Amino acid sequence: MPAIAAATTADALEAVRAKYLGRAHGWLRDLSAHLGRLDKADRASAGRAFNEVRLRVESAFAARQAALAPARVAGAPPDPTMPARHTWAGAVHPVSQILDEMIEIFRELGFTIALGPETESPWYNFGALNFPADHPAMDLHDTLYINDDVLLRTHTSPVQVRTLQAYPPPIRVLIPGNVHRRDPFDASHAPTFAQVEGLVVDEGITFADLKATLNHFARRFFGAIRTRFRPSYFPFTEPSAEMDVVCGVCHGSGCSVCKQSGWIEILGSGLVHPAVLESAGVDSVKYTGWAFGMGPARTALARYGIPDIRILYDSDVRFLGQFAR
Ligand SMILES: [Zn+2]
Repeated sequence: MPAIAAATTADALEAVRAKYLGRAHGWLRDLSAHLGRLDKADRASAGRAFNEVRLRVESAFAARQAALAPARVAGAPPDPTMPARHTWAGAVHPVSQILDEMIEIFRELGFTIALGPETESPWYNFGALNFPADHPAMDLHDTLYINDDVLLRTHTSPVQVRTLQAYPPPIRVLIPGNVHRRDPFDASHAPTFAQVEGLVVDEGITFADLKATLNHFARRFFGAIRTRFRPSYFPFTEPSAEMDVVCGVCHGSGCSVCKQSGWIEILGSGLVHPAVLESAGVDSVKYTGWAFGMGPARTALARYGIPDIRILYDSDVRFLGQFAR
């Protein structure tokens, strides 16, 4: 039908439908009204012809309607120019990656992992670790207290005491975990941060064991060509030492990373103070030991050249995605 074929929009087609197929005044409707007035003899053949015309008009209309209908989304062919959907894969946080590497190196040396609670009593956090009663670290300005008897541990060292109480020497443990301090959240401080420390207690342990083990670690982890130990002070070790490695950027000649010193401080260490062994119930005449502690977040800053520690806490996938393996 030319009128149906000429309709190029759904609205135009609807106007054609109303004209020819409409129930009220459509052309076919009017035509069927005339059929009743024909002679009986002609009525049957006229009716067949009429039905033939009606079917042809209806099918032409249906075909044109289908041609003009908008394509269904489900049936639309795929568009090869669409960008691919991004596949999300989880990644290990840079601080956790560094912690995993440290743990692996010490695991090869026979260390096992020890964990402890993040809420502690003042005795485990300070008293058992030979802090004098008036030590400034115990101050409200430095330590987060839950109440008079419970605080958030300021270091992982309480786990040294708990391990010594639970197991007899020989002991070789690595103690990773989060610690909390009343520090401002700035470019180089966070109130909550990861720490990892090691403890060795056995008969005949000396400073030579400390130096040999930590030098081995520094060579494996930092690729350090040279290390040095500087005298230091901690309440829970005697003697105590800070350990430095030669700056990996300038190899000792001085640069901005090492603040022109040629060295980068990596950890604090020392021989376990006899008072710590005794407060944990270990015979300090028979047994000696050494311990160290370091901050994986600081190590991450140095290794990746990150200028602000707060970036490690932002959970920004644009930053973290760079460390996905
Ligand atoms: Zn340097």
